[in-house]
Amino acid sequence: MNIHHNLEDFCEFAIPDGCFAETVTKFQHHTDRLFRFRTTRPASLRFRSGEFVMIGLPGDSPVFRAYSIASPSWDDTLEFFSIKVQHGLLTSRLQKIQPGDTILIQKKHTGTLVTDALLPGRQLWLFATGTGIAPFSSLVRDPEVYEKYQKIILVHGTRKTAELHYGNELMKATMDDLLVGAAAQQSLIFINATTCESYRLKGRLTHLFDSGVLEKTAGVAFYPACDRAMICGSLGFTNDFRRLLTDRGLRDGSNARPGGFLYEKAFVG
Ligand SMILES: Cc1cc2nc3c(=O)[nH]c(=O)nc-3n(C[C@H](O)[C@H](O)[C@H](O)COP(=O)(O)OP(=O)(O)OC[C@H]3O[C@@H](n4cnc5c(N)ncnc54)[C@H](O)[C@@H]3O)c2cc1C
Repeated sequence: MNIHHNLEDFCEFAIPDGCFAETVTKFQHHTDRLFRFRTTRPASLRFRSGEFVMIGLPGDSPVFRAYSIASPSWDDTLEFFSIKVQHGLLTSRLQKIQPGDTILIQKKHTGTLVTDALLPGRQLWLFATGTGIAPFSSLVRDPEVYEKYQKIILVHGTRKTAELHYGNELMKATMDDLLVGAAAQQSLIFINATTCESYRLKGRLTHLFDSGVLEKTAGVAFYPACDRAMICGSLGFTNDFRRLLTDRGLRDGSNARPGGFLYEKAFVG
């Protein structure tokens, strides 16, 4: 164990081996179930957009949980988008952090939701529920994605309309972004839907996709032969979407064997 000296308050705490100790720079509550925050970025952390890291809070025997990095690989800071699990071991404390607090980030980063694990394709469909939008928040702000695909269709489903806020803010920031804004305005299509409250698009994403509503709303067709997809969200949603894509002839891929679609296996959001 190393001892980290925080010069600002002269407080000392132990940093577990293999961790960075980073400072919270921004914190924003979205709903009673969701919040986002930013931290400083360790200079030596190099990751691919779409990957995740393990994060925790300093203390005795810190609890670590997987978090998708919601900011793109070129960003100076790291962004995370989180659920508040009632009595959750990490998030019951994490939702109370403030700018200036310390977050532990394990040095190892990995993930399947990276474009390297997909075969080359024409359009990229990103299907997310809840906090599953986090890795796609990274990808849609990465210029490389716009070089690889003619169109990127981001589809976000939530239970309530207030939970669409993060995705709507993401779209605004992406369209206004100096680096990717022009490409995004040409190529990025955003669709969102709710299941429990009335909204312009209501229903499960699996149903909206299978019935052709998503294609109609996007104004582009899904071509199984040349389109690629990623799925991130609740277990039931992920399993149902995998089946839909497999039925259409796509094969799931991995870093070792690129394929037609990818899904995050252990995500619960
Ligand atoms: C690869 C990967 C990436 C992940 N990325 C994110 C992310 O970017 N943002 C994020 O909020 N979570 C993410 N998670 C989930 C995250 O790791 C934790 O499960 C979450 O922080 C809750 O931890 P906890 O200790 O507070 O809850 P725990 O005490 O561990 O309770 C876990 C229970 O909380 C519920 N739960 C956990 N996470 C969610 C969620 N995201 N949405 C709805 N219900 C949930 C489930 O019922 C689960 O059984 C990711 C998980 C994986 C495997």
